[in-house]
Amino acid sequence: MKTNNEPSFRKSVDLMVDKAITAMNLDMGTAQAIKTCNAVLQVKFPVKIRGKIEVFTGWRATHSTHRLPSKGGIRFAPYADQDEVEALAALMTYKCAIVDVPFGGSKGALLIDPSLYDRDELEMITRRFTLELVRKGFLSPATNVPAPDMGTGQREMAWIADTYKHLHPEDINYVACVTGKPVHHGGIQGRVEATGRGVQYAIREFFRHSEDIKSANFTGTLEGKTCVIQGLGNVGYHAAKFLTEEDGVIITAVIERDGALISDQGINIEDLFQHISEHGTIKNFPSASFEEDGLKVLEKECDILIPAALESQITLENADRINAKLIVEAANGPITYGADETLNKKGTIIIPDAYANAGGVTVSYFEWIRNISHMRFGRMQKRHDELRGHQFASMLEEATGKSVSNNLRSSITKGADELDLVRSGLDDTMRLAYQQIRDTLDNNENVHDLRTACYVASITKIARSYIDIGVF
Ligand code: GLU
Repeated sequence: MKTNNEPSFRKSVDLMVDKAITAMNLDMGTAQAIKTCNAVLQVKFPVKIRGKIEVFTGWRATHSTHRLPSKGGIRFAPYADQDEVEALAALMTYKCAIVDVPFGGSKGALLIDPSLYDRDELEMITRRFTLELVRKGFLSPATNVPAPDMGTGQREMAWIADTYKHLHPEDINYVACVTGKPVHHGGIQGRVEATGRGVQYAIREFFRHSEDIKSANFTGTLEGKTCVIQGLGNVGYHAAKFLTEEDGVIITAVIERDGALISDQGINIEDLFQHISEHGTIKNFPSASFEEDGLKVLEKECDILIPAALESQITLENADRINAKLIVEAANGPITYGADETLNKKGTIIIPDAYANAGGVTVSYFEWIRNISHMRFGRMQKRHDELRGHQFASMLEEATGKSVSNNLRSSITKGADELDLVRSGLDDTMRLAYQQIRDTLDNNENVHDLRTACYVASITKIARSYIDIGVF
């Protein structure tokens, strides 16, 4: 938890951004225009639950509109406030810019503990919240497009899309009013795993840069590196699953709400996930020891620490004791401004949130494009590509007089389906963005860490749009 003299989440983001603005010598007017949150809506609305009226509070902040729609998730959480929503909306602006997703930044929250309500009640509350957002101009395919975040998922997105459709049946693009929908309701393959997948691609790209491997004091490759992960929600679960199953990373600790599990031999993420689904807790998981004080386990020695839960987890209170070589911010804002300074001084390398968890919004962008083009990716070219593959394989056989093996033939002739294209697009996006961050770090003598480099690269793009178009 944050110490009392640490700035709020929004202030913390601003301070980090200020550091970048100073490093890049941006004029103060443009800087102020970029940093300012454009609009915040607060709604309070009544819903009748089990015969009693309950009043709910929600927010939607639009941080930037230099590109439209403004984009960002909606969280359902028992702890949320305007400061947090504004901070998260600002992060969305920088996040979209760094990965070249042509959207502004936005974020929403509903103050609710979803575990206290049943499915039908949650549907009623979600639909009512959507109505408020649509009526007040804070939700539409052209201007403001939500997505899942903490406490929300495909189900809530489907309710939002359906509510918007009923309000605006004449809008041919109604299904693009929200992303992260179920695939059968206009969603895209690979969106659920996207943020975790993006974290994996970010780490892989880091390990392709020998200078970064060196600066983090690593030797060798990603395989066999130890990792502590905080949060086994959608993002943490997928990141941990892919890193262990595909890259040979060893998860030595998992931190959850109710404590932490530790095993230096490595924790099987799929088994743990099944255990949590069955028992609702990490406790009594065989083959790992349980530690009551989860936060303490953040300090466990490891190669890679992945905070994938809440903001403000690494603070002035514990930053000094963090014992990881590399921290990858899968969550938004897990490190406070003060802790960031401490870690930088210690030489801990941090892959910042605005880049590390941008996989979600990147695939949301693909989904939005799919929705406004009214066709799934790969539909036109898959069979055509397969035919070309067969022609190529036959040509090879004719030219060499040898037959192409069945394995080779099937890999050459496989046309890409939507999931292949989504993963390829995401991988490319994560690589290119990292390279831009790296170039910024190399070419700006005032920039000394990946976070500042990320903000400089991102703000340079946003500033260009303000400077080219002017202020209206
Ligand atoms: N909630 C996710 C985030 O914070 C996804 C946003 C989106 O897909 O629009 O990045």
